[in-house]
Amino acid sequence: EKAEIGLIGLAVMGSNLALNIAEKGNRIAVFNRTPEKTDTFVVEAGALREHIVPTKSLEEFVAAIRPPRPVIIMVKAGEPVDELIATLRNHLSAGDIIIDAGNANFRDTIRRFEGLKDSGLTFIGMGVSGGEEGARHGPSIMVGGTEASYKRVEKVLTSISAKFKGEDCCAWLGENGAGHFVKTIHNGIEYADMQMIAEIYGILRDGLGLSAKECSDIFGKWNKSRLESYLIEISAAVLKASDPITGKPMVDLIVDRAGQKGTGKWSAIEAQNMGVPATAIEAAVAARSLSSFKIQREAAEKILGLPGEGAIKPASRDAFIADLEMALLAGKIGAYAQGFAVMAEASKEFGWSLPMPDIAKIWRAGCIIRSQFLDDITSAFRAMPDASNLIITPAFSAMVKETDGALRRVVAAAVTAGLPVPALASALGYFDSYRRGRGTANLIQAQRDFFGAHGFDRIDGVDKHHGPWGSGLADF
Ligand code: NDP
Repeated sequence: EKAEIGLIGLAVMGSNLALNIAEKGNRIAVFNRTPEKTDTFVVEAGALREHIVPTKSLEEFVAAIRPPRPVIIMVKAGEPVDELIATLRNHLSAGDIIIDAGNANFRDTIRRFEGLKDSGLTFIGMGVSGGEEGARHGPSIMVGGTEASYKRVEKVLTSISAKFKGEDCCAWLGENGAGHFVKTIHNGIEYADMQMIAEIYGILRDGLGLSAKECSDIFGKWNKSRLESYLIEISAAVLKASDPITGKPMVDLIVDRAGQKGTGKWSAIEAQNMGVPATAIEAAVAARSLSSFKIQREAAEKILGLPGEGAIKPASRDAFIADLEMALLAGKIGAYAQGFAVMAEASKEFGWSLPMPDIAKIWRAGCIIRSQFLDDITSAFRAMPDASNLIITPAFSAMVKETDGALRRVVAAAVTAGLPVPALASALGYFDSYRRGRGTANLIQAQRDFFGAHGFDRIDGVDKHHGPWGSGLADF
């Protein structure tokens, strides 16, 4: 019996994905460059072995799969993907589908898709979110490629994806790089979400002087209400954990220097490329970079000292903590609104027709940003699919009006205390700018016209596009 699908690359992600595929009753052929890893994988597969066809050469691998052959590649991102595609071209036949499930930059995916166009082979760029656990038990799957090639793999992919209230967290999102692009924006939003949670934690720890355990209790409580999400849940869990050696809270012993692999940065870069503000995401990427300047920060604290009043002494602590919860919700709305606005613009620019309600839908489970909140986004976009921005949909405009007062009070308190809240403040600045019909760019236009004769539009429609600026500084 031929395998329904093949997979190359049996490291952490590939082997977990292969086990997930086998567990759902799909016959799968596997191959790994280093053959010993295939042997180990088969032993570890246990009872799932009956659905797995281990192979030791690409000839054997290809022959084991039912044509047209879908081949998932889950190897090291970058050059190895191009090398493997070049090799596979010589082994596969017309109609076969190469599926890159690694963390590729969507621009590489577009290039690879185009590169295979005349070969008879097709290419799918597949964003897989949820880490190792997700790959094994149900990831969120974002597919980009031709719709016909998706049809060939739809059954296998929906069988392994996460489910939210019975609905599959897997969808075809558009041609070529659409899937990897959406995965990139997912990660950008993830950065913003995590940063905002960390900023709120900073206010609790440094502003109110709470212990890690007290912070854990607060996040635990929030996880039972509107902020219910995987990231809040794990924040509560990590804040509760103690170091087995010292007995101290584990978080208190962790160096405040965050790593990053680049996908958050890509989302900020693409937002900038398209001229779409994604300030909360940019602030979160920058905050991670700044966190890595540990030595400089320690030196600067000695020179400059800590700013502001330090402690926050609210009239009512309970009311302030309730404000923090609503501020986090408001900040989150800002970050997601920005992420979706970037996708809307990319959809036009790259000709994808990205389905916004479906994107929110497939993020509701399986991925790192999974939450109840995404179900609200799904409903909002279903009700208003062409909304120019999430925050003008009826449901979310009501939420912004309900929560932005709390965000304003929290940002003001943090700023006065000297506690950094770059992502939350960015979200607030975004709301305040986006909702203001008359901004201040009239002055910028005048400045531009002064030094560069760029011209401007008049509010009264009068057809006069320059000056009069006199002779400038000479007049003073
Ligand atoms: P690695 O990124 O560590 O890659 C190792 C695998 O790549 C091995 O199977 C290795 O084979 C193979 N490989 C490397 N170079 C080549 C080559 N030139 N030709 C053929 N095979 C090659 O594995 P991971 O499982 O950690 O990650 C796989 C992909 O998934 C990456 O793109 C990564 O970014 C992404 N990823 C996604 C996550 C998510 O949450 N979605 C989380 C972690 C990773 P060999 O055994 O012979 O060395």
